[in-house]
Amino acid sequence: MSVTERLAEVRERIARACRDAGRPAGSVELVAVSKTFEAEHITPALAAGQRLFGENRVQEAKAKWPALKEAWPGVELHLIGPLQTNKVREALGLFDVIHTLDRPSLAEALAKEIAKSDRPSPRLLIQVNTGEEPQKAGIAPLEADAFIDACRDVHKLAVEGLMCIPPADEPAAPHFALLAKIAKKHGLATLSMGMSGDYETAIALGATHVRVGSAIFGTR
Ligand SMILES: *Cc1c(COP(=O)(O)O)cnc(C)c1O
Repeated sequence: MSVTERLAEVRERIARACRDAGRPAGSVELVAVSKTFEAEHITPALAAGQRLFGENRVQEAKAKWPALKEAWPGVELHLIGPLQTNKVREALGLFDVIHTLDRPSLAEALAKEIAKSDRPSPRLLIQVNTGEEPQKAGIAPLEADAFIDACRDVHKLAVEGLMCIPPADEPAAPHFALLAKIAKKHGLATLSMGMSGDYETAIALGATHVRVGSAIFGTR
C-alpha cells in the first residue's frame, strides 16, 4: 500500500473509533509521525491534505521541515521526542507544539527562551511516564501534580495538556486512563496518546491527538 492509501485507512479508522466512542467526528487530531522518513515519503501525505506532523529530533526536523513548510502552507509541526535544554531555542523556531515538557530544568529553559523570543509560545504538553520506566522520559505520575502546578504558577507556561508513551509490553488502556485522570484533575483539555498499535484504544479513552507513524509511512 502507498502512503496515501495507508493515510486514508488510518483516517477512516479514527473516524470509526470516534463514532464507536460516541465522540464527534473531528474531535481527534492525527499527528503523522514522519521521523526517519525523507521528504519524498512525506510529500504524498501533504498532498492528501495532512498538515500535522510529528518529529522526535530537533536536528532532523531542522534539516527536513523548513523547506516543506515553505512549500506546503499550514503545516503544524509537533515535537514528540525528548528536548535537551541546549536545543530549546532551536526548537522554538521550528515547532508549533511541544509534547515533551518533562522536568523542571526544561520548564525553566522554555520560560526563559519564550520570554526572550518575539514569536508566540508553542503549545505545550507535559509528558507523564505513566509506566514509571527508568529509561523513559516523562515526569513520574506521583510528581505530576506538583510539576503541572509549577509549570503554570512558577514558570507561567501555558500548559494545555498531557502526553504519554505506555510501556511496550503492557496493555495501553490503563496508562491512557491514568493520563486522562490526571488531565481532568487539572482541567487540561489536550491528551496526546495512542500510536500505530493502539490509537483506537486511546480514542476510546479520550485522546485528542494520536501520534501515528508506521501505520502511515511503513516500518522504520
Ligand atoms: C515514533 C513515535 C510515535 C509513532 O510510533 P508508531 O508506532 O510508528 O506509530 C509516536 N509517539 C512517539 C513519542 C514516538 O517517538
